Amino acid sequence: MAGDNPNSRPLAGRRAAVTGSTSGIGLAIADALARAGADVALNGFGDHAPALAQVGAHGTKVVFVGADLSKGPDSQKWVADVQAALGGLDILVNNAGIQHVAPVDEFPDDKWDAILAINLSSNFHTMKAAIPAMKAQNWGRIVNIASAHGLVASPFKSAYVAAKHGVLGLTKSTALELAETMVTVNSVCPGFVDTPLVRGQIADQARVNNMSEEQVVKQIILASQPTKRFVTADQVAETVLFLCSEAASGITGSSFSVDGGWTAR
Ligand code: NAD
Repeated sequence: MAGDNPNSRPLAGRRAAVTGSTSGIGLAIADALARAGADVALNGFGDHAPALAQVGAHGTKVVFVGADLSKGPDSQKWVADVQAALGGLDILVNNAGIQHVAPVDEFPDDKWDAILAINLSSNFHTMKAAIPAMKAQNWGRIVNIASAHGLVASPFKSAYVAAKHGVLGLTKSTALELAETMVTVNSVCPGFVDTPLVRGQIADQARVNNMSEEQVVKQIILASQPTKRFVTADQVAETVLFLCSEAASGITGSSFSVDGGWTAR
């Protein structure tokens, strides 16, 4: 257990919420925040019991606050529910996201709307709801999980790329508005992380290209990542943890690539 040394619990007393934290990167972020001493509100679809057990094992208060964050008013109500459950909100991590891969001229309208709603607009709605209290207490950390696809594009991912580029712009604009407060707003841009979201793409690509999943990982997925290794969810989580620390007080409006060298090309 993260121990008796207070330096190992730098976020003790902080209240954090992570969207889409029943799985993948969001779960790793929630886990890291709780390990650092924060109380944490989880969110996401599917069975949340395993995530509650994992994150709760660090001994801080951990609650699940469900909501479909693709619906604007629900996102704003979700923040109010989190504030009620934790007694306030100091750290907001917008992580929930989905993907769909298709040529732009065949891209289903409903998939476009869904991706923009959850990957971009939910960040606006949760920030809009969370910022007044953060301003009033003059402390806050907002971290938006974008993607390498917030900086560069790939074919067949028009909605995802548009949304993630939008997240970077939204992050910068919000950071500037809050710059004179002690509320920072930053984004993190992961490369490929082996999560259910990416596993879905690997299975699709294997089917379409008549390849094994192993071939897809080597020849397609990791082709853009110079390390030829997946980034881990824990590596993304540690970057978020740093941005939530006092050491990162001077960082706002920035994006941090954790992408195995992808965008260095
Ligand atoms: P994941 O599928 O493992 O997890 C996504 C989470 O979002 C789940 O908890 C899911 O229930 C939740 N979610 C989806 N729609 C929701 C909605 N409408 N309301 C509430 N919750 C919802 O995916 P992941 O790979 O961990 O992705 C997390 C984030 O990281 C996403 O924003 C994704 O775009 C980004 N990202 C992932 C990778 C990668 O390679 N996996 C790379 C770059 C960026």
